[in-house]
Amino acid sequence: MREELLALAKLAEMDDSARDIDAELKQIPQSLEELRDSVQMLETMLAQERQQLEEAEQLKVQQGSELKERNEGLQRARKKVAQATSIREADAGEREVDANRRSIKEREEELGRIGQAIEAKAASLAEREKDFEEAKGVLRSQEESSKTRIAELEEQRSKMLSGRDDLAAKVPKSVIKRYDRLKTGISNVVIIINGGTCTGCRMALPPQLTIELQRANELHQCPHCRRIIIHKNVIAD
Ligand SMILES: [Zn+2]
Repeated sequence: MREELLALAKLAEMDDSARDIDAELKQIPQSLEELRDSVQMLETMLAQERQQLEEAEQLKVQQGSELKERNEGLQRARKKVAQATSIREADAGEREVDANRRSIKEREEELGRIGQAIEAKAASLAEREKDFEEAKGVLRSQEESSKTRIAELEEQRSKMLSGRDDLAAKVPKSVIKRYDRLKTGISNVVIIINGGTCTGCRMALPPQLTIELQRANELHQCPHCRRIIIHKNVIAD
């Protein structure tokens, strides 16, 4: 078992040294994804605001044409008053003039409000467009720099892990399986100890286990933290 444990210890050391690289390799696409999501969100908001602006502008056109109609109605009513041949006709004409005036006033006020809303919406839209362009720029440059960084990391990683396959081939498959399983939950899965304490969890090991560890007849795990423990003497030349 000595040879196997030695290979496992070396393999684990390689994996540990590549751990930061692996973490960064995992982090980069996640960060990019978050950035893409926020760009997407800005785009959605932008589309909504454009839609709102468009609706306000349609309303403005509509109110404008109603105002025009009321103005024409006012002219007609004034003509009626001027051409009235009886008091009744003149009164009816006056009432029509008043009704049109009220309506014109309301339309004008409404148009004022719409105009303000359009102005505000256009300003926030311009702001939003700027944000969107900026975010897209950031995303593009992040995508570029990530590509470079990933290539760098991959290269470092493959250098660091060169020879790993040969080592793995020396370790029984069942041990590799156990090692891989443990690796997903804890860091420094394989630890080399010198005395009677597990340096992974700092707990004292049973004396019997410490003796068995030096015999290196089988694979042992710390009874407290489940890490694979190997005695220093086993792997020392
Ligand atoms: Zn332990």
